[in-house]
Amino acid sequence: MSEGPAAVIIVGSGPAGVGAAEAFRRHDAETPVRILTADPEPPYARPPLSKEFLRGETEDVGLHPAQWYSEHRIDLVNTHVDSIHPDHRHVSADGRRYPYSALILATGSAPIPPPVPGGERAHLLRSLADARRLRDSSVGSQSAVVIGAGFIGCEAAASLAMRGIPVTLVAPDAVPQEKRLGADAGERLRGLVTSAGARYVGGVAVEAIDDGAVRLDNGVTVHCDLVLAATGVRPQSGLAQDAGLKIDDSRIVVGADMATSASDVYAVGDVAFAYNATAGRHIAVEHWQDAADQGEIAGAAAAGADVGWDGVPGFWTTIGDATVKYHAWGDGYDKARLIEHDDGFTAWYERDGATVGVLTCNADHDYDRGEALINKAQAVCPPG
Ligand SMILES: Cc1cc2nc3c(=O)[nH]c(=O)nc-3n(C[C@H](O)[C@H](O)[C@H](O)COP(=O)(O)OP(=O)(O)OC[C@H]3O[C@@H](n4cnc5c(N)ncnc54)[C@H](O)[C@@H]3O)c2cc1C
Repeated sequence: MSEGPAAVIIVGSGPAGVGAAEAFRRHDAETPVRILTADPEPPYARPPLSKEFLRGETEDVGLHPAQWYSEHRIDLVNTHVDSIHPDHRHVSADGRRYPYSALILATGSAPIPPPVPGGERAHLLRSLADARRLRDSSVGSQSAVVIGAGFIGCEAAASLAMRGIPVTLVAPDAVPQEKRLGADAGERLRGLVTSAGARYVGGVAVEAIDDGAVRLDNGVTVHCDLVLAATGVRPQSGLAQDAGLKIDDSRIVVGADMATSASDVYAVGDVAFAYNATAGRHIAVEHWQDAADQGEIAGAAAAGADVGWDGVPGFWTTIGDATVKYHAWGDGYDKARLIEHDDGFTAWYERDGATVGVLTCNADHDYDRGEALINKAQAVCPPG
C-alpha cells in the first residue's frame, strides 16, 4: 500500500530527525514532512535519562509539546522502516510504501549488550522505555553494578548512588576513559564518580553475569540485584548498508551537507560519518547537539539551501553535581595536559602542535577558548 504523495521522509525521531524536520519546515511550508520512527513515545531528550530522570527528579523529557508537530504539519508515524529503495525513491515500513522527494536517515545507534554469559540479565539504557525499566528496577535495590565507564556509565552510576543505592562501577581502564581522555582526566572523572557515592573498580573485565552477582576476571564476585551495561553503542546503518550506500566503519559516509552517495538521501547524527569543513576530514560524533545541528543542515539542504557542517563538536555531561564540558574532533591526540583549578580542571589535547580537544569542569572560559583554538588549529600557548 502506498502512503500518499511524495514527502520528505525522515527515519528516526531523535534530535537529528526532529532537527531535520524543523529546519526543512522553516525553509518549505508546503511539502509534506513525515517522521517514521520505531519509538512509540513522542520525541524526547535522552541526556536526562541517565541523570535527572533516573534520579526521579523529572518526568518532563519531551522535546516539544504534543501539538507542536501538527502545528508545524509534521506527521509522526510510529512504524519500523524495513528497507529503503533509492532507485525507486520510496521506503518500506510494516508492509506500507512511503514515496519520498528527499530521504533523511537519522537512525542513531543502539546499545551493545555485554558479550558474556548472562549478558541478557543486564539493563541497557538508550530509550525512554529502557530508562523507565531501569528506574523501576532500582526502587528498593540493595546494590547495583554498572559495567562500562564511558559518560553514560559514569552518569548512571553517580545517579544511582545519589539515590542511596550502593553502586560499583567496573571497567577495563584503570581510571574512567583513560584511553580516550588520558590518565589525568580519567583520575578527575573517577573523583567525580566517587564523590557522588559510587565505588570505581578499574582494570577488570566482566566474565559473567549470574543471578544476583557479577563475576570479574580478577576472581572477585560483586553481589548485586541490579546490573546496567553501558558497554558501547553500534550505529544503526543496516538500512543504508542493504541499499548499497557508502559506509565506513559501520557509519554512513556523508559530505558537509549531509548528502549520502545516493541521490536525495541524507544521513545525520550518530549514524553518520560526516565531513567537517573546518577539520578537513570526516568525523564521527555521538553527541546530542551535533546530532541536532547535523539534522538542521540536512533539513535545510533538502530544501535547497547551501549549507555545510563546520562547527567543532562538543557536549556537556553531568556526573553527580559536576558539569563536564568537552569540545574535540575526537579522533586522537599526541599530547594531553591537565591544569588544576580551585574547584575544577581543564584538560588540553594537542596533535602536531594544534589544539584538538578541551575537557573542562568549572572552567567555562577555557571551554570557550578551547573551541576557538580548535577551530583555528592553534596551539594552547603559542611559542613566544
Ligand atoms: C542515557 C543517555 C544519555 C546521554 N547523555 C548525553 C549528554 O549528556 N550529552 C550529549 O551530548 N549526548 C548524550 N547522549 C547521546 C545523545 O543522546 C545521542 O548522541 C543522540 O541521541 C543521537 O541522536 P540521533 O538523532 O542521531 O539518534 P537517536 O537519538 O538514537 O535516535 C534514533 C531514532 O531512530 C529510530 N530508528 C532507528 N532505526 C529505525 C528504523 N529502522 N525504523 C524507524 N525508526 C528507527 C529510533 O527509534 C530513534 O527514534 C546520551 C545518550 C543516552 C542514551
